[in-house]
Amino acid sequence: MSKPNDYDVLVIGAGVSGLAAASDLTRAGKRVVVLEARGRVGGRVHTERVGGHTTDVGASWIHGIDDSSLHDATRALGMREAEFTVGSFQAGGRPMVYFGPGNERLSAVAADGFIADVAALDPELERAIARAPEGASYADAVQSAVASFVANRSWDEDRAERVLEYHRHRAEEQYGAWWDDLDAHGLDDDQIEGDEVVFPDGYDALPRALAAGLDVRLETPVNRIAWSGGGVAVAAGETVFTADHVIVTAPVGVLQSGQIEFAPALPEPVARALEGFAMNEFEKVFLRFDAPFWDDGVYAIKRQGSAAQWWHSWYDLTQAVGTPTLLTFAAGPAARATRDWSDDEIVASVMSSLREIYGAAVPDPESARITRWRDDPWAQGSYAFAKPGTPPEAHTILATPIGGVLQLAGEATWQDDPATVTAALESGRRAAQRVLFGHDAPAR
Ligand SMILES: Cc1cc2nc3c(=O)[nH]c(=O)nc-3n(C[C@H](O)[C@H](O)[C@H](O)COP(=O)(O)OP(=O)(O)OC[C@H]3O[C@@H](n4cnc5c(N)ncnc54)[C@H](O)[C@@H]3O)c2cc1C
Repeated sequence: MSKPNDYDVLVIGAGVSGLAAASDLTRAGKRVVVLEARGRVGGRVHTERVGGHTTDVGASWIHGIDDSSLHDATRALGMREAEFTVGSFQAGGRPMVYFGPGNERLSAVAADGFIADVAALDPELERAIARAPEGASYADAVQSAVASFVANRSWDEDRAERVLEYHRHRAEEQYGAWWDDLDAHGLDDDQIEGDEVVFPDGYDALPRALAAGLDVRLETPVNRIAWSGGGVAVAAGETVFTADHVIVTAPVGVLQSGQIEFAPALPEPVARALEGFAMNEFEKVFLRFDAPFWDDGVYAIKRQGSAAQWWHSWYDLTQAVGTPTLLTFAAGPAARATRDWSDDEIVASVMSSLREIYGAAVPDPESARITRWRDDPWAQGSYAFAKPGTPPEAHTILATPIGGVLQLAGEATWQDDPATVTAALESGRRAAQRVLFGHDAPAR
């Protein structure tokens, strides 16, 4: 008789996905071990507490709390929240101040006109995406929608350019990708149901609560997963763990890098689905000031025009975090170009943009924090996006159970709302269901 496996289930990665899976399985009586490369849990949900500042350097928002299982979870934990509804890229919806291409402050009428143009394009864009041929990019779909709009509604070049620019920035801020690099359907899931919220005391309360009582082995990077009908043998250096099942929640970038050897290699259709995604370039730039110098009572400061190609949106986090703080993003091309810059160089570049609209007297920030997720070996980017030619179903395909013993889970494997904490949570729970009730348990 062959030797029994050490555990029922091994979970690779102690981010929200892995912890959600492990927690459901442990509660169901399974013997579970979570193997985590880092010295902490939470993965891309990570809160820093430095010098009296609480900063979510990974995820901050629940993008829409209506009908949200994630919001149910954070409420059940009693996590203090603050409404911040323009966390996803929106033209309006909450008070914002707009600066036009000539650095002039847009009047309410002009800003409303632009917001209405963005809204008016939506149905045409939906149609353009629906009829986009395989391999078309988000840029192709937007350009075709705007072209027909120009023809039908006589937008002048400038009006059309403002809307095109809005969608370029949307692809960058929502997916950290240049709009040519994102599939036409890449933002299909970008629907916000209800208010958005952030967590002033830190989002990490969620992974910490999920991890409570679990057997989590920190600083245990997995480098090999051998799988067969009899189960799995997972190696972390010299140590080998065996189990009946393994759930792998390492990010797409880690899987693509070959850091984890699969023996045999991941089969179809999972292997092909994995190739359809890329890790993005999306970094947060937090600027903390002694006192605010910007408009009072606005959620966001938006700048239009070619001078604002990189730095175009600043979010006022003051209410949420308690100190005068602006957040902007280095996303897509801006993140790529500034990847090797020092923090001081990035701050100087952002500040020079702010001074172009608020004047030379704007002071330097008292402190700044710039994330470097792209250089993080256990993330290799902030989240995954679908390359042109990758259909929305590729998310679900990525989670196809393999050989009755192996499943991928994590943000990229959830089709409804990929690239989010919701996706991480739901995909982890689905993986646990499939271990408990068989691999036909519902997939979404
Ligand atoms: C800057 C930024 C902003 C974001 N903003 C939002 C937001 O506002 N709202 C939102 O919903 N989402 C946001 N996200 C996305 C969200 O954080 C992720 O989708 C989610 O946290 C991913 O969870 P996960 O469990 O799938 O992956 P992860 O959290 O990455 O967990 C995977 C774990 O696997 C570990 N691991 C990797 N390789 C190995 C290995 N070889 N062996 C062992 N362990 C390994 C990693 O260390 C990690 O802990 C943001 C992300 C970033 C980075």
